[in-house]
Amino acid sequence: MNTYDFDLFVIGGGSGGVRASRTAAGYGAKVAVAEEYRLGGTCVIRGCVPKKLLMYASQFGFALEDSKGFGWRVSEASHQWQNLIHAKNIEIARLEQVYEELLGKASVDVIKGKATIVGAHEVRVNDVNFTAGHILIATGATPEVPEIPGAELMVTSNDVLAMEHAPERIAIVGGGYIACEFAGIFKGLGSRVWMVHRGSRLLRGFDEQVRVHIGSELAANDIQMRLATTVTAVERKRNAYLLYLGSGEILEVDLVMAATGRRPNTGGLGLESVGVHVDADGAIPVNSYSRTSSDHVYAVGDVTNRLNLTPVAIHEGHAFADTVFGDLPRRTGHEGVPFAVFSQPQVAAVGLTEEEACAIHGGVRVYSSVFRPMRAALSGRNERVLVKLIADATTERILGAHIVAPDAAEIIQGIAVALKAGATKADFDATLGVHPSVAEEFVTLRNARYATRTQS
Ligand code: NDP
Repeated sequence: MNTYDFDLFVIGGGSGGVRASRTAAGYGAKVAVAEEYRLGGTCVIRGCVPKKLLMYASQFGFALEDSKGFGWRVSEASHQWQNLIHAKNIEIARLEQVYEELLGKASVDVIKGKATIVGAHEVRVNDVNFTAGHILIATGATPEVPEIPGAELMVTSNDVLAMEHAPERIAIVGGGYIACEFAGIFKGLGSRVWMVHRGSRLLRGFDEQVRVHIGSELAANDIQMRLATTVTAVERKRNAYLLYLGSGEILEVDLVMAATGRRPNTGGLGLESVGVHVDADGAIPVNSYSRTSSDHVYAVGDVTNRLNLTPVAIHEGHAFADTVFGDLPRRTGHEGVPFAVFSQPQVAAVGLTEEEACAIHGGVRVYSSVFRPMRAALSGRNERVLVKLIADATTERILGAHIVAPDAAEIIQGIAVALKAGATKADFDATLGVHPSVAEEFVTLRNARYATRTQS
């Protein structure tokens, strides 16, 4: 007999938490979700969605430059940052409302406030205790700023999405997803942009050829690269900031953005009270069914630091609800998940990098092409596309696909389906291209090089 207030209490109303709530409720569970800020979480409120809207805005900046080669004469254009942020805020509020309605329709109780676990089956929000058969932690992650003198002067992606003016000069610290994406956003909107990264290549973990290529593409777009150098301090200088680099250089800019990674939101949740372990990075380790070290406590999404992508969090939340409330044990596979960095140009991939493929499979065939896209012929933009396939040397099965190009995210989704279906190089070769397009290069790649563990 159910003696709890709820069958499921979800902490965090982001992508993973909301999907889990609705799915569990669909199976007849009595569900509550606590959210301390706004429904929608990182993706909707301060991540994927607003970032993509800003990226669209910045694309017009690049397009205006390119348009001259196509015969356009554009009288002086200027961008109104405040108008963009206002329009973005309206859209985010609309989406938040959609989330609220979806939860309402699913009969999920929404409780506004910070939740803390206070007992084996007990959660407290705003001094009220609720009991629950299961607890799901879906609290996401939050930006981290490096511990250097003047760290408090840096902003993060959260702040940037709410600020009132765009900077004339911005330095972005970091070389990951968010750094690459915001470098493109600010460049397209007319700022002078510096990227300062401690590594010698951007996007650690990506295919090495891709890392080299995107670095030179961003530099070709006039983003000032400061690689293999750290930031030692930030200082205010009247209305500007001085950024001291390990190389000895001092950059003077109007805004310093830290895009140096995110930390799982596990502080103050009372995890110790139910014996839920947290690892050295602050993340909650879980098994393949998203169960924590405590039997009835589960965790999904960025707080588990597995693969920090929205569709993954949604799948994890859904699989959790299927498993626990639908009697349909289901796991989320973290292999073969396509992903994209919305830099300009975009980077997208699915499957293994060349380095991973060599390490796992020993020998692989690598097909790649670097070329000038047709539109660059008239725009005059100094841009190059990279398209790359990695095939098993024996079976010719495609192990990885990578692309650096405008709209790469749109292209990789279809390629991901082919890889899921086990496509071989022969399948790609047997497919006719869409002409003229960038994507057709995936089915016209001919010359292979052989790569092995030692050569790559
Ligand atoms: P990332 O982990 O992608 O990048 C962090 C960057 O900061 C790395 O270049 C890292 O360098 C550098 N860094 C870390 N600590 C320091 C430090 N103390 N000093 C200087 N540099 C430092 O993190 P992001 O915050 O960009 O994004 C977080 C995650 O969110 C991503 O990994 C991704 O999973 C997800 N995300 C996905 C997006 C998408 O799908 N399009 C968009 C945005 C985020 P190094 O490489 O040397 O460690």
